Amino acid sequence: MVTLKKPDEIEKMKRAGAVVADVLKLMRDIIRPGIDTMSLDDAASDLISRESATASFKGYKTQGTRSPFPGSICVSINDEVVHGIPDKYRILAEGDIVSVDVGAIYSGYHGDAACTFAVGDSVSPMRAKLIETTREALYIGISHVKPGRTLGDIGHAIEEWILSRGCGVVREYAGHGIGKKMHEAPQVPNYGKAGSGITLRQGLTFCIEPMVVSGDEPVKSASNGWTVLTKDGSDAAHFEHTLLVTEDGVMILTPWE
Ligand code: MG
Repeated sequence: MVTLKKPDEIEKMKRAGAVVADVLKLMRDIIRPGIDTMSLDDAASDLISRESATASFKGYKTQGTRSPFPGSICVSINDEVVHGIPDKYRILAEGDIVSVDVGAIYSGYHGDAACTFAVGDSVSPMRAKLIETTREALYIGISHVKPGRTLGDIGHAIEEWILSRGCGVVREYAGHGIGKKMHEAPQVPNYGKAGSGITLRQGLTFCIEPMVVSGDEPVKSASNGWTVLTKDGSDAAHFEHTLLVTEDGVMILTPWE
């Protein structure tokens, strides 16, 4: 069921979103060649607890996964699309791209956002284009968020942009409503038909999160049960914001750029 948030709930979601935004700013500052991904997780976890919040992903369980998610954040490198697991033996190298997905709970409400970063200064033009295409896809989606528009309008605009850039859309995973739970109704696909799906109303809170690949679209799960990778080994990028539908438009609840 889709729920519309009341003003006091929105205040808590703004606080949760601010924590998530602070973590992404910190990631931007510390990501560099040679850093291990567990150090990123440790830094994120420290900041989240200093801000009196809890990491949404730590211990998260879904149907079909054998064990709860072990990290505070998801760290996905190169051909990993989402849900990469932080590990001290997984070390970032010059020219990698790394997607960091952050969720935080403040006073019972979630915020959720993601960004793909270039590691070092020598990322390939193809990887740079993939990052820029995915970032743009997110903001194109956000430009359609206002009362009266539909989820299909958002998905259609995102898909059209990504395909026009010669990239692929990951279709098995989607954005989602968010609030007391990290994943609430509705699902927010990164493809669709303009005018289809539910109509946006003031007070709806949800995440748009395009996942984009430079090669073929199919993805697979790693043997750890969590990490999602491209089947063909091509690169993937992921950008996400938590959004509120306002009276006449949209507010980004996880502003960090
Ligand atoms: Mg999300």
